Amino acid sequence: MIFEEIIKRGHEQVSYFNDPTLGLKGIVAIHNTVLGPALGGCRMWNYKSEEDALIDVLRLSKGMTYKAAIAGLNLGGGKAVIIGDPKSDKSEELFRSFGRFIEGLGGRYITAEDVGTSIKDMDHVRMETKYVTGISKSFGGSGDPSLLTAFGTYLGIKAAVKFKLKKDSLEGLSISVQGLGSVGMELVKYLSNDGMKIFAYDIDEELISQAQEIYNVTKISSDDIYNQDVDIYAPCALGATINNQTIPLLKCSIVAGAANNVLKDPKKHSEALMKKGILYAPDYAINAGGLINVYNELEGYNRDRAFNQAEAIYDILMDIFYKSEKENIPTNVASNRKAEERINKIASLKSFYLPNRRKMILKER
Ligand code: NAD
Repeated sequence: MIFEEIIKRGHEQVSYFNDPTLGLKGIVAIHNTVLGPALGGCRMWNYKSEEDALIDVLRLSKGMTYKAAIAGLNLGGGKAVIIGDPKSDKSEELFRSFGRFIEGLGGRYITAEDVGTSIKDMDHVRMETKYVTGISKSFGGSGDPSLLTAFGTYLGIKAAVKFKLKKDSLEGLSISVQGLGSVGMELVKYLSNDGMKIFAYDIDEELISQAQEIYNVTKISSDDIYNQDVDIYAPCALGATINNQTIPLLKCSIVAGAANNVLKDPKKHSEALMKKGILYAPDYAINAGGLINVYNELEGYNRDRAFNQAEAIYDILMDIFYKSEKENIPTNVASNRKAEERINKIASLKSFYLPNRRKMILKER
């Protein structure tokens, strides 16, 4: 069963690790390293079964390949999962043991924080390996990735507005923002500065009050987030919010937000949005700012460089939109194809000047 799943998704390597003294069990999935070492977070989760953990790590690592490729980074896609309860099973030893395992992969996989893991955990990983990002600022870490994710999302919204509404400015346009957490609140700051009319909802009342006070946001109900008469719907909380129930309610002309896995069924729901004339900014392209942030950590973190690099998100989305229009395909399909094209082009580039090939050519002479 394992090989079937790996072959289906095109993974290069899947490694199981086990430290019986600590009860540490986990999996690292390396999907593709054509562009560079596989980078992706380490998720700690109380998976119901080992099979669930495997499917999750395979799915997430493949997603990272596409995210890095579309963002123009020299990174491959990978992910790790630790099977355990992040509330009760964490310890310094556990993450150091995980770090030793990562070290053993020799740099083919670089880890980072994710759901269930923290900067502190990554600091423990760092004690055993250099192949870790998302560490404390005092160790050269890049800090909270949400700031760059929000900046990239803001630029992605501007690109969508330029493409769909033919406007250079967001002034006077309206948006409903779902989720005012680390990314959502920072995004609202940019949108408010640009003079947008902002409607927002978060299950946390305090965050809504904060946004009302600072950014003049109008509070709406959880249901109205979908049927609000706005230009843009920005999902910044949960995944799968674009689904059979919500699509008929939408009055917006653009869906663009930071949340991961926005489309419940990517094929079906991207086609449904396209049919309704709604422009969708593919999630993994618009929210790549966080990955750009940790990527910069690898070269010695420099905030200005990271923000400069994230500016590319505007053009990346424009290219995706044009490709989608030209080929009459949903934007997420256009984005996938662009990511695959980049990987294939770089792969063929790397077929030259390989030591083995050089030797072969020399022999032929
Ligand atoms: P967060 O946990 O800080 O914020 C999420 C917010 O959503 C919280 O305020 C929460 O109360 C709210 N929320 C939860 N359920 C809700 C609901 N039903 N309706 C409205 N609000 C609800 O998370 P974040 O870091 O801001 O990330 C937001 C989204 O962006 C997530 O989907 C995340 O996977 C994605 N993302 C984040 C980053 C990053 O750098 N933080 C990078 C890429 C993608």
